Amino acid sequence: MADLRSRYLALQRELGGDEVILSRSLEQLRSRTVGDDTEVRADSEGSEVSAVGATPKEAGSAWRRGAPPIPDLPGLTIRAPARGLMDQPPGWESLDEVARTIATCEACFLCKGRTKTVPGEGNPKAQLLFVGEGPGQSEDETGRPFVGRAGELLTKMIEAIGLQREAVFIANAVKCRPPQNRKPLPDELAACWRYLERQIELIEPKVIVALGATAAETLLQVRRSLTDLRGRVHSYREIPLVVTYHPAALLRNPNWKKPAWDDIRIARQLLDR
Ligand code: URA
Repeated sequence: MADLRSRYLALQRELGGDEVILSRSLEQLRSRTVGDDTEVRADSEGSEVSAVGATPKEAGSAWRRGAPPIPDLPGLTIRAPARGLMDQPPGWESLDEVARTIATCEACFLCKGRTKTVPGEGNPKAQLLFVGEGPGQSEDETGRPFVGRAGELLTKMIEAIGLQREAVFIANAVKCRPPQNRKPLPDELAACWRYLERQIELIEPKVIVALGATAAETLLQVRRSLTDLRGRVHSYREIPLVVTYHPAALLRNPNWKKPAWDDIRIARQLLDR
């Protein structure tokens, strides 16, 4: 129990939360229904800190407190391209098939330096899809997305909105590590696009979160600042898309954690819509 409490407090601090939710007993909280926001509150010195939010299962609706409303500023709209019979995209039937194709891909220079390809992972029918930029060193070594420090932060944010990492899908704009973690070049992004495009078609997520400018620009086909793209709900082929900071940027600039947490809570509300 003490462990759960300290984990919850640490999570609140990490995400810039300024409130701690208290309750008389964990049993009382467990008996509450999802969506009930009537927990007793006090400051962080209180003695009976509950486990709300401490684990994915118990995070419940604690994330809703202080969450901004879904913005009504108009976003960008990306429609599926009109295609002729001769210009159909590859029809991979499953995410595994996409991943197997990626594993042998030599469509761009990034294949030269990779240890492992990183196709993405998660629930093949996830409602929430996160898209990052490209694998870093830990991802290149393991073949899994977001497993380094930025990944730990992303996992915490997912848990803080009451979801398990395994319930969502996490992918990247490019599937091989760029040298020295540099930003992927336009031709590398273009060569890899068909994989992400097909992954989205197969997953059919209800909401997409673009993590950072590279993912946002790739999905929305624009060059705009993150400031310009945040704070509105875009539409990618009729799927609502929210743009936020890349978790690695949050590690470098902790002042962005609170706005990022707000973005993630907007995405979470879109899931319920
Ligand atoms: N950064 C990314 O954009 N993707 C990863 O998978 C890891 C770090």
